[in-house]
Amino acid sequence: MISLEQFAAHWKMPLNPLKAVHQVYPFVLSRHFANLITAPEDPLWRQVVPDPRELDNSDPLSLMDPLGEESRSPVPNLVHRYPDRVLWIVSDVCAVHCRFCTRKRRWTHPVPLTDDLVHEAVDYIRKTPAIHDVLLSGGDPLMLPVDFLESLVARVREIPHVRLIRLGTRVPFADPARITPALVRRLAAYAPLYINIHVNHPSEISPESREACRLLADAGIPLGSQTVLLNGINDDAGVLGTLFMELLTLRVRPYYLLQMDLMQGTAHFRTPLSAGMELLAALRHRISGLALPHFVVDLPGGLGKVPMTASAVVHMDSKRVVLKNFAERSSAYPLEPFEAERLRRVLGLS
Ligand SMILES: *Cc1c(COP(=O)(O)O)cnc(C)c1O
Ligand code: SF4
Repeated sequence: MISLEQFAAHWKMPLNPLKAVHQVYPFVLSRHFANLITAPEDPLWRQVVPDPRELDNSDPLSLMDPLGEESRSPVPNLVHRYPDRVLWIVSDVCAVHCRFCTRKRRWTHPVPLTDDLVHEAVDYIRKTPAIHDVLLSGGDPLMLPVDFLESLVARVREIPHVRLIRLGTRVPFADPARITPALVRRLAAYAPLYINIHVNHPSEISPESREACRLLADAGIPLGSQTVLLNGINDDAGVLGTLFMELLTLRVRPYYLLQMDLMQGTAHFRTPLSAGMELLAALRHRISGLALPHFVVDLPGGLGKVPMTASAVVHMDSKRVVLKNFAERSSAYPLEPFEAERLRRVLGLS
């Protein structure tokens, strides 16, 4: 890890403005990711360097817990949003702190996973036979001590009705040295275990991360990706097309392209809803269909992820679009001025 002081000195930046943001939302940056940055404001820099706009709380649309996760947790750190799946926040540590993170509220208020909480979570899953799929997330599960991570995976694997285990991680691209043959061998023993990798820009792909993906894929661990659509960073058909094709060659199947959540202090990263639709439309038939992820919006209020399609739209006016989830519950996502027209066009609604 490199410290904020080292980072500021390296790039000859004044420390204090960075520090003001860091005190609220701490800076974390792996040496590997730092070395991939080639210039100030490049697409990697902008993902990880504190920006004073993060302290701007004037955006009326933003929330501290935009997905209502705290209210949907039957046990602390376990989010049960869909009938058959749970998201288990098992770590509060990451290889980098993405400045647009939906869970950045937890950076200074982590809820450490004590033995008691592990027990409660495992117990809840065991007593809920509808749960078939357990997604270990964070934070980043691959930043945990390997023995501890394995103990969690093993306990989930023992539950007969749990069919799938998934890990969500940014480590293969942000700190690939952690993906060792020994780790991979241990994880592969709990198949079917899927790994979903957070990656946003082709410049994140390095020889080391190619090797990490190769190790994982060779061990038979199916790999998927999720990419957050970020204003000025990857909201470009050329950039996304390159990223998705590169990922496929690494045997990582692009899974989700995510609309930014309405997290407080992240409005500068947000793209209009129509942008994601337009970008995928531009890529369709230009690159392999296997390279195209679903564009999804995680509905405000904790209603879950909805693929952005015409059939999800309940209502649209100049200020908002109301989308419905799998259970026909709906909530509104705000639209930028004049955006409704664009969105109607790309969705094929008249
Ligand atoms: C994203 C998410 C899942 C997994 O959803 P899939 O669409 O199956 O990938 C499960 N639970 C929660 C709370 C989530 O946010
Ligand atoms: S890796 Fe994921 S959890 Fe960690 S800071 Fe980035 S977005 Fe947030």
